[in-house]
Amino acid sequence: MKICKTIDEMRATSRAARHSGKRLGLVPTMGALHDGHLSLMRAAKSKCDAVAASIFINPLQFGPTEDLAKYPRTFDHDVQMLEKESVDILFAPTPVEMYTPGAVTYVTVEGLSDKLCGKSRPGHFRGVATVVAKLFHIVEPDVAFFGQKDAAQATIIRRMVRDLNLPIEIAVCPIVREPDGLAMSSRNVYLSPQDRKSATVLNRSLIEVKQRFDQGERNPTALIKAAKKILAQEPTVRLDYFEIVDPSTLDPAPKLTGPALVAVAAVVGTTRLIDNILLQP
Ligand code: AMP
Repeated sequence: MKICKTIDEMRATSRAARHSGKRLGLVPTMGALHDGHLSLMRAAKSKCDAVAASIFINPLQFGPTEDLAKYPRTFDHDVQMLEKESVDILFAPTPVEMYTPGAVTYVTVEGLSDKLCGKSRPGHFRGVATVVAKLFHIVEPDVAFFGQKDAAQATIIRRMVRDLNLPIEIAVCPIVREPDGLAMSSRNVYLSPQDRKSATVLNRSLIEVKQRFDQGERNPTALIKAAKKILAQEPTVRLDYFEIVDPSTLDPAPKLTGPALVAVAAVVGTTRLIDNILLQP
């Protein structure tokens, strides 16, 4: 695997791959890789001739009181995992390489960036959209792979690509879970053993909604109430939001006649976790 630390090196490497006729896939990550990330690498391997992964803990998407400084950093282990998956290129720039001092240009996907996690994490999705736009310009992939785990992020990236006419296909891959249902996340390592057990309530609340939906319940208010009852079983889990929204606008879905995204965010101990499920009528 070729490791590129500079933008020039990355650009030259991906251009060489594309000029030799290869379809190039990109999997953006913040490292601390787990099986969720690896599922994206495998999807990219199966759909593309060459795969580039990026590892960049993007300071722009962290709020001033968030976990940027303590975010897990396991670079050497990540490199081993990527090599095992036969990833061809790794882009691992420093923050200074990515953000020239004095940079003041941002990408804001208006009307979406302030929904779901954007409400309690102001500036988060602006940071995400900006770094992903930069990665797209640097790597110039044919396809970019994202996880359904970050459902709002996937919606926002799709909209950005559409609105800015970026010639990139967006592939969104299913959520990979631990055997007890907890969605895999680099942040799960923060959880104490007790919090780790309590954290499964997020998935359990989504399963409750799915079961009631499958039994015919179509009232979002009733579904949200049932989910909140499950979440209340874990008093140490502090709910941020539980919403049922239209997956393309992220606005509340008043009637469940089309596909709906059921999304939850909660703080478990000191760790903010998210999860979601899609409902298809
Ligand atoms: P991150 O390193 O957390 O920024 O995630 C990088 C990519 O991996 C994003 O597109 C995430 O949605 C995706 N991802 C993270 N966790 C999972 C998971 N459990 N299942 C599937 N994809 C995931």
